[in-house]
Amino acid sequence: MKKGFQYIYGPVPSWRLGSSLGIDLLSQAEKICNFDCLYCQIGQVKEYASERKVYVPVKAVIEELQKLPETNIDYITFSGRGEPTLAANLGEGIKAVKLIRKEPVAVLTNGSLMGMDEVRKEIISADFVVAKLDAHSPESLQSINRPVKGVEFGNIVEGIKVFRKSYKGKLALQMMLIDNNRNDVNKLIYLANYIKPDEVQVNTPLRQCSVRALSKEDIFKIKNNFLDACAGIQVVSVFDERDGKDIVSLSDEDTLKRRGKVK
Ligand code: SF4
Repeated sequence: MKKGFQYIYGPVPSWRLGSSLGIDLLSQAEKICNFDCLYCQIGQVKEYASERKVYVPVKAVIEELQKLPETNIDYITFSGRGEPTLAANLGEGIKAVKLIRKEPVAVLTNGSLMGMDEVRKEIISADFVVAKLDAHSPESLQSINRPVKGVEFGNIVEGIKVFRKSYKGKLALQMMLIDNNRNDVNKLIYLANYIKPDEVQVNTPLRQCSVRALSKEDIFKIKNNFLDACAGIQVVSVFDERDGKDIVSLSDEDTLKRRGKVK
């Protein structure tokens, strides 16, 4: 590892983003999240975070980016060890990165705070927003994503829908399919058609976690269900064939901490 990178990690080969350089505006020893998803690859939440606050000054991230060696990057992605919209300076961070880098900026969010005007205003500057939506009801949100008290299913769905209406960038819904929701694909299709993202990403947890992944065959069947029922929405899956890129991470250890795997 090149010394001096605390807040940026990767680049990592991402099936959704190509070569993705991660920015972690949370960067704490423990995960900072308001969800505790059954399949979370960075471990169980010890204490929920529910308030937005500044964890890392944007200036520190920009200083690291200015030291970045020449490397092939498709996206600069706000993600990291938890939920990036919990960083109260996310909007400032996106704008600052776009001032000094030419690559498009992505945000991977669990969607929990997209019901808040201020959060939607901040992430609207990103080029690609990927919002998680695994649940189809308040009960399934409780059973799959296990949110902190106060996070409500209806607010998430309506927040993403309102965002869709004004957002000019690319919006994807990432749906993690596991045994818990595999029989509810029609309800997830209904939500996709209600929100009308540009893309649905059909995923299943392939990194180490406490629930089993669905098979490639099952995921392709689900992908085809979406394709048949969601006119005008691109559908991709974690098992799709794609060009393998030779991507070298700045630090395997720091990447592993945020992502659960390096390659
Ligand atoms: S939203 Fe992401 S970081 Fe938070 S618990 Fe779920 S998988 Fe883990």
